[in-house]
Amino acid sequence: MTLRLFNTLSGQLDQIFAEDGKALRMYACGPTVYDFGHIGNFRTFLQIDVLRRFLLLTGMQLRHVMNITDVDDKIIRNSAAAGVSLREYSAPFEQAFLDDLDTLRIQHPEQIARATEHIDRMVELIQNLAAAGAAYQTEDGSWYFRLSAFPAYGKLSKKDLSGMEDGARVDVDEYEKDSARDFALWKAAKPGETSWDTAIGNGRPGWHIECSAMAMEYLGESFDLHAGGEDLMFPHHENEIAQSETVTHKPFARHWMHVRFLLVDGRKMSKSEGNFYTLRDLLLKGYKASAIRMALISVPYRHQLNFTFDGLVDATSAIERIRTFKKRLASGSFAAGENPALQEAAKNAQAEYIAALSNDLNTAEARAPIFDLIRTANTAIDQSQLLAGDRDAILAVLASFDAVFDVIEDNDAEATRRALEWAEKAGKLADVAPELFARQGLTDEAIDALVAERTAAKKQRNFARADQIRNELAEKGIILEDSKDGVRWKRK
Ligand code: AMP
Ligand code: ZN
Repeated sequence: MTLRLFNTLSGQLDQIFAEDGKALRMYACGPTVYDFGHIGNFRTFLQIDVLRRFLLLTGMQLRHVMNITDVDDKIIRNSAAAGVSLREYSAPFEQAFLDDLDTLRIQHPEQIARATEHIDRMVELIQNLAAAGAAYQTEDGSWYFRLSAFPAYGKLSKKDLSGMEDGARVDVDEYEKDSARDFALWKAAKPGETSWDTAIGNGRPGWHIECSAMAMEYLGESFDLHAGGEDLMFPHHENEIAQSETVTHKPFARHWMHVRFLLVDGRKMSKSEGNFYTLRDLLLKGYKASAIRMALISVPYRHQLNFTFDGLVDATSAIERIRTFKKRLASGSFAAGENPALQEAAKNAQAEYIAALSNDLNTAEARAPIFDLIRTANTAIDQSQLLAGDRDAILAVLASFDAVFDVIEDNDAEATRRALEWAEKAGKLADVAPELFARQGLTDEAIDALVAERTAAKKQRNFARADQIRNELAEKGIILEDSKDGVRWKRK
């Protein structure tokens, strides 16, 4: 079992292997923790999880590193506006990101590295670039990478950069897609901004240098695989290559994997377009965590995926089908023995499943033989032709399916409960779909919060909202009594 995966750098499917013969060293660009992630971000992390889990299934050891970008333009701007430190601002979003990974059952990498804890390594790298003549300082004290010092620039994205302006500079973290510019390695401190006083001056790192420094810190100068969303290919990954290879003269990463976008009506889901859903938005609307996972991984990573609610509904029923089947297998009593036709069907399904994933992680093709097997086995059970040995063989196929897809065990109620708990704390109970309260049962705290919201609405003379809350609660059997010392409620 080996994986052939599309390599952006070579432009073809390449076999994945650990150069050191021990563990596959891989780096995946992590989140910028300035807000909650949207499900487009999580599509990328989910597809990297599919990669991780399939490699583990093939018996490979992994050394997977992910950064947390906890200093950038947006974090600095937002923390200053909120009057708190960078860490105070970003810590809750970092925790929310890790919680969302758990909700989506995305495995944690072996190493998570925060940018702000690796400033020394970044400074050292910039010093090495300066010594190599590839970094220069401008009058304000910022440092830039000199693109002309790296003639191979553009080799990853295959962009034609012949029109590149020598010496033109850019200092924002994200910039236009088609211009190649000397980019900021280090930004001089501006009044009121968080900064680090270092040998190269007082300031803070640019975004690109973070990933070069942290990847090399944990994986060495040259490693096996680097992954991220398709928007990172240029300029972020191109810049990582330029910074790293200029210093080491070694290939930075051998293999580059890029996950294509999650779209909404044909456009990239993104914060700036305003066309996004967070994981929590969807959970509060009543969609299950497993369905979100299934919908976002079932279209292979090399295809863009258009997000629709119908897609979530389809994923929900696909999961229901597998779960019901597994219960039927596990709880049924079957005569001893094996039915050769079913043994053969299980063996073929397993082989086709592995073959599909081995071929560039084709998750869509990998699902198909599993559902075929379920159909065949259900018919066999109906006709009393499934025997105990077949049950075990089929359960083994399901286990191998779930080693990657991880949707069969039902953790959905717990994930939704956590989302409701968060909604209560964050004052977002009004966003919760009414059916969800009914499905989960309304806690005392949730009722208190709604009652308080109703009282506030009345104070603001928003009687429509106050009545709406009274009616919603009534539908769930909660009766409100207005009394002179406030509102009392009771369950019918
Ligand atoms: P960020 O937190 O913005 O740095 O993004 C985290 C990851 O999400 C990066 O790997 C991005 O490439 C990826 N990403 C952002 N938007 C989308 C999208 N609409 N679909 C898939 N991946 C995305
Ligand atoms: Zn990165």
